[in-house]
Amino acid sequence: VKDEGKNHFQFFTSEMNDLVSRKSKIAMSIRKGLELGEFTVRYQPQFDIESEKIIGVEALVRWHHTKWGPISPAEFIPIAEENGMILHIGEFVLRTACQQNKDWQDAGLPPFRVAVNISAKQFSNSNIAAVVTSALADAGLSPEFLELELTESIIQGARSAISKMWELKAMGIHLSIDDFGTGYSSLSYLKLFPVDTLKIDQHFTRNIHNDPKDAALVDTIIQMAHNLELNVIAEGVETSEQLAFLKKKKCNQAQGYYFQKPLLPDQIEKLYLKA
Ligand code: C2E
Ligand code: CA
Ligand code: CA
Ligand code: CA
Repeated sequence: VKDEGKNHFQFFTSEMNDLVSRKSKIAMSIRKGLELGEFTVRYQPQFDIESEKIIGVEALVRWHHTKWGPISPAEFIPIAEENGMILHIGEFVLRTACQQNKDWQDAGLPPFRVAVNISAKQFSNSNIAAVVTSALADAGLSPEFLELELTESIIQGARSAISKMWELKAMGIHLSIDDFGTGYSSLSYLKLFPVDTLKIDQHFTRNIHNDPKDAALVDTIIQMAHNLELNVIAEGVETSEQLAFLKKKKCNQAQGYYFQKPLLPDQIEKLYLKA
């Protein structure tokens, strides 16, 4: 009777596993993954186009599940936003990135900013200024070396967004708008919010050379940024032709596979110790 019960249980378990979607398996595994140290952070360098010097790195989270292998942030971040785990992932990335940047500075690398992606839910559902203050203090990192990448959806959201952004700005943190041009916000927010940098989405960068309209959009975004005295960076730069176009249009900075993929901390240290 005991064996029967066991078999029945096993049968039920495997059947249940088949019925439970990959999405809910992922949703249920994030907390455990964080506890087990399955999440890590890679860093993709950002360059000044004129001087070709490194000016920062973007922190990008990675998840290597012990059983399922690597899971893309494009897959698990939206799930984490739905079930609230993004608050935990986000704080993990923020703390790791601040500590890492301090470690690089202590190791003698030229000081640069670390940019951390903040999801809309993380921005609205947490006391972001308090979380950031604590992460900076624990790492011993000066606020000028931290940048937060926000999306236009944050701006569309709650009214409290504007006061939160001013609070962060007053602390001395650099703020950028990620995926600029892909949201549906009115441009008027650019004069209300204390934004430092516009980040041109990689879909525009990608088509600079095969779609004249994308080239015109990139050109327009760069000129607008400069007219508003904002810094502008292009992401997803993969070719020398794209870089040449951006340089001609006086885009300030660039990031993409043409320069470097997202790297391990050690790789950053080896590459830029003598920069
Ligand atoms: P994103 O913030 O727009 O990040 C840029 C993505 O483009 C990254 O993908 C990066 O690895 C990739 N990329 C960089 N250079 C190139 C290039 O030259 N060509 C192409 N085709 N791709 C390039 P990744 O790391 O897979 O991240 C995907 C998205 O997941 C990010 O898009 C971001 O929205 C989200 N994400 C990643 N890490 C975090 C995080 O710590 N917190 C939050 N909230 N979101 C994150
Ligand atoms: Ca980003
Ligand atoms: Ca982006
Ligand atoms: Ca994106």
